[in-house]
Amino acid sequence: MLDKKNLLGFTQQQLNEFFSQMGEKPYRTRQLMQWIYKRHEFDFDNMLNLSKTLRGKLKSIANINLPNVVKQNFATDGVIKWVVGLGEHNNIEMVYIPEKDRGTLCISSQVGCALACTFCSTGMQGFNRNLSTAEIISQVLIASKYLDSQNKRISNVVFMGMGEPLLNEEAVYDACDLLLDDLAFGLSRRKVTISTSGVVPAMLRMADRTNVSLAISLHAPDDKLRSELVPINEKYPINELLAACKNYLKAGDQERHILFEYVMLDRVNDSVDYANKLAKLLKGISSKVNLIPFNPFPQTNYKTSKSSAIERFQDILHNSGIRTMTRRTRGEDVDAACGQLAGKVLDKTKRNI
Ligand code: SAH
Ligand code: SF4
Repeated sequence: MLDKKNLLGFTQQQLNEFFSQMGEKPYRTRQLMQWIYKRHEFDFDNMLNLSKTLRGKLKSIANINLPNVVKQNFATDGVIKWVVGLGEHNNIEMVYIPEKDRGTLCISSQVGCALACTFCSTGMQGFNRNLSTAEIISQVLIASKYLDSQNKRISNVVFMGMGEPLLNEEAVYDACDLLLDDLAFGLSRRKVTISTSGVVPAMLRMADRTNVSLAISLHAPDDKLRSELVPINEKYPINELLAACKNYLKAGDQERHILFEYVMLDRVNDSVDYANKLAKLLKGISSKVNLIPFNPFPQTNYKTSKSSAIERFQDILHNSGIRTMTRRTRGEDVDAACGQLAGKVLDKTKRNI
């Protein structure tokens, strides 16, 4: 039997091609996207402005297939975590973080992650596979459908859940197209952020392919320590990483900046010396720094930095003129904080055996 196409993974341009191959007019794309993204209607039979013949044809070759929600957890601080089942014992997670004036959805791009940063619970789970565009977009649709019913909305989407987005480039870029598309989610490019541990060649390609915001998981200002924490640094060291950041800044408008994420690990990377080194490293790069207090998980020996160390670190950066924020830990009681997303990963790398 012919595999049906899941139309959730299709960008506007790809839907235009799809309808054109069926001999349909381009306005069908607009109609279908309105049903899916504005009205959350996924059953062709209910799309009454499509002719009956077209609905029948669509049903025979395509579907709109959302994965199952295995669990929805509500933290006491308003954070919501969804566990989504992708079959073959693979689960991924996404998290909604409400704030006074906005709501951020943190989504996953892979089942697990192959990069094995030493402080990350996703990394410790190993890796199974990349998500498809449809699986990425489904996370946003599932969350926005629920949040709509609660009169809440998603204002920002960040690829900071499970996985390394720049090792799943095509699916992630297509998903970004849909996030920015007015016919789908209509977010501004500043409100969509790809976070990477530093896949330099992909960062260079990204500059030509999309213009969403870029976040870099830096975590250390020198190669020796960074290679210990973020092993991909051995392949793409800090000077190459920063050159790729500058290239991304150059490709965008003047207001563009890069967000540098820095996990605060007690007595590992939180000294005055490292703060000074970081300030020096980022000089002249349009940047913001986000300090993330380490979120512990079972099987880790790291500890969160003391608040005094975090404040001291932040002050040094501030005093060097670098905009710095400390990320408040949210959703801990349902294991939804940064780096705690573990899902369920059938590890194919066999790293844990
Ligand atoms: N793979 C991408 C995106 C997912 S990780 C990346 O590494 O950027 C999202 C952010 O959470 C990264 O900055 C990551 O370093 C951080 N993180 C991972 N584990 C963490 C933990 N245990 N505590 C706090 N932050 C963590
Ligand atoms: Fe992968 Fe990011 Fe976790 Fe590193 S921090 S293991 S790149 S998900």
